[in-house]
Amino acid sequence: MDIIKIIHKKRDGGELNSEQIKWVIESYSTDKIPDYQMAALGMAIFLNGMSNLETIHLTEHMLASGICLEWQQGNPVVDKHSTGGIGDKTSIILAPLLASCDFRVPMISGRGLGPTGGTLDKLESLSGFRTDLSEKELQNIVHTVGCVITGTTPQIAPADRKIYALRDVTGIVASVPLITASILSKKLAENLDALVLDVKCGSGSFMQSIDDARHLARSLCSVGKHFGLQTTALITDMSQPVGKMIGNKIEVDESIQVLKGNGPCDVRELTLGLGAELLVNCGNDTTHDEARKRLIGCLDSGKAYERFVSMVHAQGGRLPLPKIKNNFHDLVSGTSGWISRTICSRFGEAIIELGGGRKQLHEKIDHTVGIEILVRPGDYIEKNQPWCRILYRSKETLHRAKEILNNAIFIDTKEAATKHASIATERYTSFEEP
Ligand code: URA
Repeated sequence: MDIIKIIHKKRDGGELNSEQIKWVIESYSTDKIPDYQMAALGMAIFLNGMSNLETIHLTEHMLASGICLEWQQGNPVVDKHSTGGIGDKTSIILAPLLASCDFRVPMISGRGLGPTGGTLDKLESLSGFRTDLSEKELQNIVHTVGCVITGTTPQIAPADRKIYALRDVTGIVASVPLITASILSKKLAENLDALVLDVKCGSGSFMQSIDDARHLARSLCSVGKHFGLQTTALITDMSQPVGKMIGNKIEVDESIQVLKGNGPCDVRELTLGLGAELLVNCGNDTTHDEARKRLIGCLDSGKAYERFVSMVHAQGGRLPLPKIKNNFHDLVSGTSGWISRTICSRFGEAIIELGGGRKQLHEKIDHTVGIEILVRPGDYIEKNQPWCRILYRSKETLHRAKEILNNAIFIDTKEAATKHASIATERYTSFEEP
């Protein structure tokens, strides 16, 4: 086969067949196609898209580049994946919460990239917490604790690792077929009974418009269905951060509050909404209401927190979170009025400037910096009232973060009609027509 002919076919809007896609994935994985040719093909896909069938083939061959986990008979094996948001700490809560409801959760998560944060970075704020478990260690911890949150291994969809790194540096991450194949090749390798996807929509996510979010949700469900995986996708609001805390250590702190039955309502609601989908999909005739009640019971009784503690210890981590005294600076409002909206991405950009996020995959991050949001859209604010608190390391990074955050909220003289919350707006499934 000839890579140039394949690039031309995609460039001219043609459709690739399974053999061609298989050859590209195998050749790129074994370094027979150089990065610059793969980048050209990636850009052609980014610009012209892929049919559903091409996306299925891409997913299939990326999955086949690695191994699939094996599970013994037992409780349902489930997972959740988010397309990436700001302040989104639901994975940290949901994995132990589902384990406390007798599910097995082999959660393979990622790192933060660009304005969106990553679960692994957040959990590494816990001293000693390991996110580089082997498949054997991962399976043992799921067997003993019920849940694990770790990074992908070199054997799980290795083609995705290489292609994702290339997409990152060539600006082609936000492509529906490429995101679909990337997420599902890893999730199918986990050999799940059910999967719930949190498709974020708004300025703090890849999918900025509802149409793009719908397109991705449908693509994920349709490809999930092809592989026989019960897949539900919720489109959730990312026009403002999830919860009050943005950063790494402070997001783990906030997750612990929710795991103890407290914490901000939007974080709790989003977690319950995603969890209930899995309980309904795997439970015999469980309704949404019953599923929510069961999940709430596990949060409020401390059962979910107990699982979290067991998971942290099994992964080498220590609790409580290390106490680190940061400098802090409060940003105050220049005027009084109602908060009408936020530009969510600004919070993620400010975290990068503070050192808590990364622009490229290899960069190191500072776990201790962060932003605490003190007001939400719909709240009234007085002139000179603090609206956010910045935890910072150096004056220079504080200065850059302040510049970004100065344009992050809008204040109106009229009261906003509704308060927004990061909960589901639409639901798609692989087993019901939307
Ligand atoms: N998350 C993934 O795992 N892959 C993508 O391409 C985007 C988000």
